[in-house]
Amino acid sequence: MTAKLINGNEIARQIREELKQETAILKEKYSMEPGLVTILVGQNPASVSYVTAKQKTSKELGFYSLQDNQPEDITEEQLLKLIEQYNNDPKIHGILVQLPLPKHINETKVLYAIDPKKDVDGFHPVNVGKMVIGEADYLPCTPAGIQQLLIRSGVKVDGAEVVVVGRSNIVGKPIANILLQKQKGANATVTICHTGTKDMAFHTKRADILIVAAGKPNAVTADMVKEGVVVIDVGVNRIGMTAEGKAKLCGDVDFEGVREKASAITPVPGGVGPMTITMLMMNTVKAAKLALGIKS
Ligand code: NAP
Repeated sequence: MTAKLINGNEIARQIREELKQETAILKEKYSMEPGLVTILVGQNPASVSYVTAKQKTSKELGFYSLQDNQPEDITEEQLLKLIEQYNNDPKIHGILVQLPLPKHINETKVLYAIDPKKDVDGFHPVNVGKMVIGEADYLPCTPAGIQQLLIRSGVKVDGAEVVVVGRSNIVGKPIANILLQKQKGANATVTICHTGTKDMAFHTKRADILIVAAGKPNAVTADMVKEGVVVIDVGVNRIGMTAEGKAKLCGDVDFEGVREKASAITPVPGGVGPMTITMLMMNTVKAAKLALGIKS
């Protein structure tokens, strides 16, 4: 069996098209534009490229978008004040503080200062708690993107054995929580593996759906999966250089080996990656609708 590719670029494009239409309706019916501010502290090149991509996408969708660049030496107090200002700004529905922050600023304190209603990254403990009890307004972006990839590729999650490799707060734990909810596109039996797991292959071989977020190339190889498994590879690892002098990207799964046994698999790049920004946009549209009292 050679796996079907789950095309994250195409699924992200479909969702963005839907969001563009929803944005146009919000403008027409309510004279409202979803408003997103991205706050960048300093000029870390990777962070600059992430916020640039977020701004570009939000503009393409027709949002009111604001890029707020702050100097590296901004104090924690000044940053907290700035967040308070956006918490009270009715034109802003989503606040994104690009991480990492400089060492003199307490990241947790900053993320907790964002009004949970404007927390479109889904990292505030109020939103994490709502996700765990199955009443989320906003799901964290990468796990939400993984769920959409499964649903929109027609993968049956209900009743499936899902194995997640990795227990980070941004990927492993939330995706496990999301897929075990008694809800549509979920209702799976979920196992989480990590570096303390005694026999990882024992678990991964049982998986109907295997989600790998370890941050290690080849963390999962062909001998660790069963025939017909659906594999979502979240990992982004930079290994060596291409002929053009760019870093080569690979996931956490031995793609060539595993694709011969899997029924479907996400590539890296072009799998989970394009979904993360798209789900940030989806959360911003949701935040704008919630501000209008529309819950859907
Ligand atoms: P992280 O915080 O480093 O967590 C990695 C997790 O994997 C930890 O729980 C660790 O276990 C576990 N782990 C590591 N090696 C393992 C192994 N050999 N066997 C079993 N478990 C292992 O990473 P993260 O933030 O979740 O990110 C994971 C990967 O996804 C990274 O490559 C990251 O770049 C990528 N990522 C991609 C996107 C995207 O949009 N495409 C978004 C987020 C992350 P312990 O807890 O025991 O240490």
